[in-house]
Parts: sequence; structure tokens; C-alpha cells
Amino acid sequence: MKAKEILPQLSLKEKVLLLQAKDNWNLNGVKRFEVPEIYVTDGPNGVRAGNSDLTESYPATAIPAESILSASWDTDLVEELGEMLAEEARYYNVGVLLGPGVNAKRSPLAGRNFEYYSEDPYLSGKLAAALIRGVQKGGVGASLKHFAANDQETRRFTSNATVDERTLRELLLLPFEIAVREGDPWSIMGAYPKLRGTHACENPYLLKDILRDEWGYEGVVLTDWGACVNKVASHKNGLDLETGTFERAGELLRAVENGDITEAEIDLHALRVLELIEKAVEGRKKSYTVDWDRHHGLAKKAAGESIVLLKNEQRLLPLTEGCRIAVVGRFAEEPRFGGGGSSGVLPRKIDTLLNSLAGMAEISYAPGYDSEEPNAELEAEACRIAAGKEAVIIMVGTTAVSESEGADRRNLSLPESHLSLLAALAGVNPNIIVCNCSGAAVELGPVDSIAKSVLHCGFSGEAGGAALADILFGKVNPSGKLTETFPLRLEHTPAYPYFPGDGDEITYAEGLLQGYRYYDTKKIPVQYPFGHGLSYTDYKYNNLRFSDSILHNGKELTVCVDVTNTGEMEGTEIVEIYVSDPESYLVRPEKELKGFARVTLKPGETKTVSVVLDERAFSYYVPHIGRYAVESGIFRIMAAASAQDIRLEGEIRFVSGDEVRRPLTPASTMMEFYTDDRYAKETQAVYSELGIGEEHPMFPVLSSMRLEYLPGVLSFIQVPKEVSVSYQKRILSAVRNSEE
Ligand code: BGC
Repeated sequence: MKAKEILPQLSLKEKVLLLQAKDNWNLNGVKRFEVPEIYVTDGPNGVRAGNSDLTESYPATAIPAESILSASWDTDLVEELGEMLAEEARYYNVGVLLGPGVNAKRSPLAGRNFEYYSEDPYLSGKLAAALIRGVQKGGVGASLKHFAANDQETRRFTSNATVDERTLRELLLLPFEIAVREGDPWSIMGAYPKLRGTHACENPYLLKDILRDEWGYEGVVLTDWGACVNKVASHKNGLDLETGTFERAGELLRAVENGDITEAEIDLHALRVLELIEKAVEGRKKSYTVDWDRHHGLAKKAAGESIVLLKNEQRLLPLTEGCRIAVVGRFAEEPRFGGGGSSGVLPRKIDTLLNSLAGMAEISYAPGYDSEEPNAELEAEACRIAAGKEAVIIMVGTTAVSESEGADRRNLSLPESHLSLLAALAGVNPNIIVCNCSGAAVELGPVDSIAKSVLHCGFSGEAGGAALADILFGKVNPSGKLTETFPLRLEHTPAYPYFPGDGDEITYAEGLLQGYRYYDTKKIPVQYPFGHGLSYTDYKYNNLRFSDSILHNGKELTVCVDVTNTGEMEGTEIVEIYVSDPESYLVRPEKELKGFARVTLKPGETKTVSVVLDERAFSYYVPHIGRYAVESGIFRIMAAASAQDIRLEGEIRFVSGDEVRRPLTPASTMMEFYTDDRYAKETQAVYSELGIGEEHPMFPVLSSMRLEYLPGVLSFIQVPKEVSVSYQKRILSAVRNSEE
């Protein structure tokens, strides 16, 4: 099929129908031109295919949820998973997979954080781009979601986000921008909430100015399910395709008749939808195979790379094979392999921890809890089996009730039943290993005070149990690193208490300081920092070096560091590269992640890791010039094992052609002119002609005045008005010069 040739032959009605879905999971086609209906389905953590009302789901591989998969920091792996998802999508005739999601993590309370990669926008963007590339390589489209500012579940259909421009650009939009530029998704899903008073799906700033004009995106913008409020306004402002409701074509027909929207506008959107269908038709021609066992193996590999070892006192882990251990917690037999809501997947096979441990150790098991409420009987049974064992493995985490799409969590605590079980077990066995299964950060203080070893497993997919067993027994050396901060308590989190807003009004009052940017800048202690993760071996960083000591616009800097495995087990280290701009015109976070690399090392082995930083790594969004820009000056570059474990650091100087400072105006003070190097020479000359040096009693008074008031203040020392005005002109001419 050829979209461009078909479009002119379509009736207005046929075109208008292309702009809305046929039913929940199918797009309209055009029968008379053999344009097929395309089947779309969720999503990022596995293919959620099923019958039309999803009362029956078809089995598919459940990979780790994005929030834990990101802890692998492995773009190659994520791309490979994307290809795997495409194979399964093809198997079920799915043309577009609804994912990945890259919304921001303002608060760990946000109910859907498990569907988003990281609190760091750069990392999120890189991983999303990789997933998109993988899926689309397989002939299936991705749908990057939810564009944008859908960072909470509370009132997601009705709320309005007030976000300042830099926060919008540098935190909320950056992952979308990277994913669009480096992944080029076939479609982007517009979000439910309003941004600055206008629903995302009818927001011209998001859909036209930024997405199309700035980023050059040419794919389809579709709505989240039911996110189209005003149909005509939406299509006028950049929406291509409405989903979730199927009977509004008449509104568009009437709007064309009334002249509220032109047929040319309809054509533009219809063409994009036809092109999407064309891609899906082409995609179907690619050959594919589905090897469910291989996919299960890949899900296990992904979980193994993602699970994070947070703490390992006295090197309690790894356990030795054949030891006598107790396993406690119902999640060991009924795992939290994925989050609730639209990303739910029905796995063909689930490896529970309990089954996976068989053969590795002598195991006694007790469920320990059956709900969020403590159960004394189950606790007593757990204590009985835990006493005298070499170690106790306890599975804790959030429940399907407390963490799901559609609602935000009310607190960061683990269920009471898990905490009281833990306290009871601490009384009978000192060797406690806690495995936490939550989609986002929880308060781990009460766990840490008891457990010698703590692992964060997240929702690690259908093979998470097997991957965890391998880590517990050292068959896999843990290498995952947190992609979100685990705070000490809810009250310390950046968006507290502004999250989830006052009624429908959400104000991003924390601004640019989300996640580690907040804790680092404000020196707020945390339970576990961003980027933290232990291994069974140790790594030493040496010899940080840069390809240049001075950098200019448009140039790249290569950062190299040698990493040595100083322990006794092969392992993979994730090296994090942060950049800090110690002095800046506008506020910047203490430091920001700008690169990362994974390196696998045998014991004693050293390898050089290199990361390329481009101009963007040094820049920030400057609202008054409407683009990213770099300030000249010194930048610190850090090679780190976590946001709080900086191993090596060095400096470079950036000599930038960008002027990020606002020009001064007649309303600026004399002091501003006096100290600003663009105007200082002229201004200081005027001061000197007036005989007002820095020691002169008039100096502070004159300097505090606005330039426009110069004639007034100088009249006190009998300077004629014409002279004052000529001074003003001289100083202001520097304004013009600097603007030129
Ligand atoms: C979710 C989307 C999802 C869609 C279809 C919506 O409620 O927000 O992420 O893709 O449903 O299931």
C-alpha cells in the first residue's frame, strides 16, 4: 500500500474515520483500498494481547518492569528485549506496542512509577530509545508515552500541571526528546492531564511547537485511552488519532462543514495514520520466530542484570550451596512479577523463588503473611522454621492493592504484616536477608536496621525468582544499580508536600530538583542513593582523563577511566559520569548524570571505559533564549560508582559562544551595569568621569539606582540633564553592542 497515493482517493468520511480507533484495540482501515485494520496493545513489560475486551489475555513473556529493568543500565539488553517483544507482538498480529513510558518520577508515591525507567531523564531517554529501536527493528511500532506531565495517577484525567519551563524541558521532556531523536517511535501517546491549562492531547505547545517544529517528529500522535476531551481542538492542535472512544467522527464532519477545521488539516492527520498502517504492513513482511524458552531465558538474564544488592554486611551473601536456610514470605511462591493495570502481562511460565531454590539449598518455607494485616499464627510458624537456620530469606514488598495504575500510594511504608514479620524473625535469627519487591522506592529504614543483606528486586518479571536464586547463591554476581533514590522518609522527598497537588492543581514546586538532584544539592541524607548497587567483587577506578582540557561548542569530549576488578569473582561494573557546573547564571543542580558505561571484568582484570560527552552534557535550557546553551567556564566531571560515591574527578574549561545572560535594560541597576563585563568598561568610565570611585560616599547610592533614574540622582550633584542622558546612552549602547 502507498499512503500518499491512497489519501487523495479517500472520501472525507473515510479520512475522518482514520482519525479514530475502530474499537479498543484496533485502528480503522479502509476496506475498499485494502488498508488493513491495525491491532495495537500494551505494552512495555510484555505483550498484553487478548480478546477485544481483554477478558481473555494471551500468554506472553513478562520482562522486568521498566523501573527495575533500568537498574541494568544496559541499552543493548533493552534493545534485545525490544526485538523479543516485537517477535511476540508479531505472533499475536500486533502492529503497535503501547510503550515505553518515560514520565518523570517526582515522588516515589506515584502509582505508576514502575512503568517508568528512572528519576534521571537522560537515563530514561537512552533506555526508551533502545527499547523503541528493538521493537521497531522487528517490524512493530512503539508508542512512546505519556506525553507529557502525567507524573501521578491522582486525578490523572482532570488535573492541571503548572511546570516552569526549565523543569519541563530538562526533566519532563528530555526523555521524550532523546527517545524521539534516537529511537524515532512510530507513535507517541498524548497524556491525560492538562499542562498549563490545556489538555496534553490538544496542547499546541507540546504537540506542534516542541514535538513537530523543534524535534522534527513525523510519526503519529495518538491519545491515551479516553484522553481526547475536545475532538476538534485536539486535531487542530496536532493530534492525529483518537483512541478509547469510537463514535466521534461526526464531530469532525460537522466541523469541516462549519469551517472550524479544514479538509487539508484532516488530510495531514489521515496521511500520518495511513503511513503508520503502511509501516505495520511492511513490518509484517519481515520474518520472525518465537522461541518461548529463549524469551524466558532473556527475561531471566534481564532480571539477573537488574536486581540490586543494596547492602551485604559481613558478606553474608552469596550463600553456599547446600546450606540450611529458611525462606519466608508469600511472595516467594506468589511473586510480584509485574505491576497492576494496563501493563499487566499473563506469563506462560513463572519461576518462583521457592521453586528456583530447589536443589541449591536445604529449604524450609513459611508464607509469614497473607495480607497487609499482621497474622500472629503465620509469624509464629515463620519464626519456628527460621530458628537455627544459617540464614533467613524474607520476601517483602508492596501489594497489588497499594501499587497500581490508577492510584498513587498513600505512604512509602512496607505493609505492616511484612514489617512485623521481619521484627519477629530478627528475634530468632541474626542472618536476615531481605528481598524487596516494589515498583518504586519504599522506606527501607526498618529493614536496614534488622537485615544484614538487602536486595531490591522490583517487579522482576516471570523469571525474577530464578534470577534472584542465582544471585543469592553467587551463580550471578549482582550488578544492578538503583535508578531512583531510596529516601529515608517520605517527608524528605522533593515533591513533598506538593504531591499530588491541591485538588486538580499540581504545582511542580520542587522545580529542577527532582530525585538525586534534590538530595545532592540540598545535602539531604538518603537511605540508598541514586546509582547505588553492590557486587560480590570490588572495583577500583584509576586514571580519569579527558580528550581535551578546553572544549568549544559543537565539539565532543571523550572521558576515559580505567576500572579494575580487585576482588575474586567476575563481575560487571556500571560507571556513572556526572557533570557539575559549579558557577552558573541560572540555578543548576549540584550535578547531573551525562553518561554511563557497563564493563565486565574478570578478577584482576583492568579495562578502560570511555564515554563521549557532547555539548548537551554541559548545557542547560535557557528560557529567555528558547534553547539549550552552554556557559563558558569550568566544569567538573566525575566518574562515580553512585551519585554519592564519586571515585575520581577532574575539570575542563568550556569556551562557549553562547550568551546565556539576559541583556540589561534601563530598569537594571547601575551596580548591575558596573559589574557585568558586557557593560562594565563603559559604566566604569562614566563613574570615573563623575569622580565617583568605589570609596566615594555616593558610590553605594548611585549604584543602587536604576539606570533610567540616572538624571534624577545626578541632579543632586548638579550634573546637567543632557550630560546624564548622554551617560545613559553610552552605557545602553553597550546593551545594543552586546545584543549584536
Ligand atoms: C494507560 C495507557 C495504556 C492504555 C491502553 C491507559 O489507561 O494510561 O498507558 O496504554 O490505557 O491500555
